[in-house]
Amino acid sequence: MIFNLGSVNIDYVYAVPHLPQPGETLAAASMSVGLGGKGANMSVAIARAGGPVRHIGAVGPDGVWAKARLAGYGIDVDHVATVDVATGHAIINVDAQGENAIVIFPGANHEQSDRAIAAGLADAGAGDFLIFQNETNGREFAMTQALERGLQVIYVPAPYDEDPVKPLLPKADILVLNEVEFGQMIQATGRDVATLGIPTIVVTRGAQGAVLLEESSGWSERVFSAPKVAAIDTTGAGDTFAGYLAAGLEVGLSAEQSVERAVTAAALKVTRRGTAEAIPSLDEVQTFLG
Ligand code: ADP
Repeated sequence: MIFNLGSVNIDYVYAVPHLPQPGETLAAASMSVGLGGKGANMSVAIARAGGPVRHIGAVGPDGVWAKARLAGYGIDVDHVATVDVATGHAIINVDAQGENAIVIFPGANHEQSDRAIAAGLADAGAGDFLIFQNETNGREFAMTQALERGLQVIYVPAPYDEDPVKPLLPKADILVLNEVEFGQMIQATGRDVATLGIPTIVVTRGAQGAVLLEESSGWSERVFSAPKVAAIDTTGAGDTFAGYLAAGLEVGLSAEQSVERAVTAAALKVTRRGTAEAIPSLDEVQTFLG
């Protein structure tokens, strides 16, 4: 089982003629409401990859539909609490060129209690995985609980924020991050990757694919190129990648096999508009892999 301590957001997307300037009031040509948040996207990706996943998180009274949407993907949502704070949400302005400006309100994502996290992990044990990102509170507590229970911990330090990330890094078994975040991490820690104490690091590189860095008597580096695709919408590509990677490892695939599948799944995602609803199924990924 994969336990995902993760954000659930409501995405409000506004099509605007240009991004609003200071003091400007602007009418949007259209707007849509969807399920988002890195955590929710990763749970959907795990479920689409056929993996068993329990989402640990929180929504407000306005997010009951989002929880139901997650359940519809086959995700265990028994530990998605409903709290008395607005659901985390993102106000996403997209201009005619596709450029965006985003405001995020964490809301219920910052209302995780230690008690609820412990309850969510109560039946977790060896062979299970914990995955988490930086959009909820309670990360260090969850990580400590998971390590005590013998879980493998996959950390996706995004969005990258130096202070809270630093103490978590050395305890992670597997780190998954994009090239920009990788650069920020190396700069912030002032350390060479080899001295970070993380046995497996996967760096995603957009259209270039991903690099797998593994420590076992010295560092090895393997490059996985992404299939060439016509990219339409890269939203959620990293989340698709991380979810597929976790699902591969959980089912006992090697890191190499899991990364290969994740690279392909994420490449397929970018050929489709949307986030959760655009994440491909394992069948689609396998057909593509041939
Ligand atoms: P993030 O979405 O976190 O910024 P990346 O941009 O590195 O992360 O993308 C994650 C993964 O999505 C890549 O490893 C790759 O598999 C896939 N991907 C992203 N952009 C493209 C693209 N233009 N063509 C093919 N695959 C892509």
